[in-house]
Amino acid sequence: MKQLVYSVIDKHRDEFLELAELLFHTPELGYKEQQTKHIIQTFLKNHDIEVEKEYFETGFQVTVGNAHKPHIGLIAELDAIPTIGHCCANPLDNAAHSCGHSTQVVMMIAALLTLKELIDTNQLHGRVTLFFCPAEEFIDIEYRKKLIANKSIYAIGGKQNMIIDHLFDNIDCCVHAHGMGKFKKYRFNVQSSLAGFVYKKYHFQGKASHAAMAPSEGINALSACNLFLQAQALLRETFLDSDMNRVHGIITNGGDVVNSIPSDVVYEAYIRSFSTKALMTLNEKLSNAAIHCAKAIGAQCNIEEIKGYFPFNQDILLSNVVYQNMLSFVSPCEIQTDEKSIASGDIGDLSLFKPTIQFGYTGFKGTMHGNNLEVSEPNFVYSITAKVIAASVIDLLANSKCLDDICSSFTPQMSIEDYKKYVTRSCYEIDDLN
Ligand SMILES: [Zn+2]
Ligand SMILES: [Zn+2]
Repeated sequence: MKQLVYSVIDKHRDEFLELAELLFHTPELGYKEQQTKHIIQTFLKNHDIEVEKEYFETGFQVTVGNAHKPHIGLIAELDAIPTIGHCCANPLDNAAHSCGHSTQVVMMIAALLTLKELIDTNQLHGRVTLFFCPAEEFIDIEYRKKLIANKSIYAIGGKQNMIIDHLFDNIDCCVHAHGMGKFKKYRFNVQSSLAGFVYKKYHFQGKASHAAMAPSEGINALSACNLFLQAQALLRETFLDSDMNRVHGIITNGGDVVNSIPSDVVYEAYIRSFSTKALMTLNEKLSNAAIHCAKAIGAQCNIEEIKGYFPFNQDILLSNVVYQNMLSFVSPCEIQTDEKSIASGDIGDLSLFKPTIQFGYTGFKGTMHGNNLEVSEPNFVYSITAKVIAASVIDLLANSKCLDDICSSFTPQMSIEDYKKYVTRSCYEIDDLN
């Protein structure tokens, strides 16, 4: 059956490459992927695949097969990221596919079309849904806040909204793949973990006065921020190495004029960790530090917080299914199995609720998120990787014990209701000490 799948992918190779070119040259930011959506839906329609459901501006899904179980989810991300100087950057907002999401779309469609042939001819039983997810990159925050305000979305990340709307509830497990840049030592990776993060905006408020004539009449917000940065640095010794915590920020407003005591200072930061518990604890420690440091100077600190993404814990059994299929194309020493990436993705949130994996593939030149990222090995990216995905889905659908083991060993980390509360309690203010 797998050989048949491989030959179908090879047969359609030119068509997939044409689609890949078109998508790579149509980069759009999250929740604005209208042309991308149109291109994909037209391609799918030409292959007798109808859109099942649309949501959150540009997201949608298609399904092949009609049995209720087993039901496998495939994930493709639609959005691009601003990348000044990229050869294919959109002149409007510099959006470019420098994170390689357009390649995910093509390989997932290639896998889906071949699986459709097997299911339509009764060689394989089950159901496969391909989710085209908008807005994975955590960017363009002000635009997305407006979408939240007018109730078009609940949260910043595409999959966060899809989780809240129960779109993955009927899926047994989810398979996703993400580019990992150029080929160095490894062709693929499996079981790599991603950090989780929270975005913070600390707004220190003091009182302006003449900086030379009357500093005693002012309250220096920059001093409050400075004290907080000292506390942040001193707290670093409480970080556990194994959590790989990171706090990194910038001062986006440091005062208005040099000869006035700064009354408004803004420090924006990301807090990252591989441990959800450590992430929450550290977040709280820093909030306390900011409030108390402000108070020590006589200032106040309002804190705006937007929940980022959860740490990503990949499903080991599901990773192993994909790993075994990679071995048809590469040797074990070409598959990385232990990477800890400090990057984050909303796929981490999905892993709270379903057995989920995101394996990595190479085949690019340039740097991820860099202005020189391009596909350099189209056969590897679009054909080999699509074959690995399709073969893995065949294993999951054809071998019920394999999927049963995956599902029975998985425990959801929280309820969707609690998740919604956590993610949408996005902005709050702390303006006083008790
Ligand atoms: Zn990215
Ligand atoms: Zn990405």
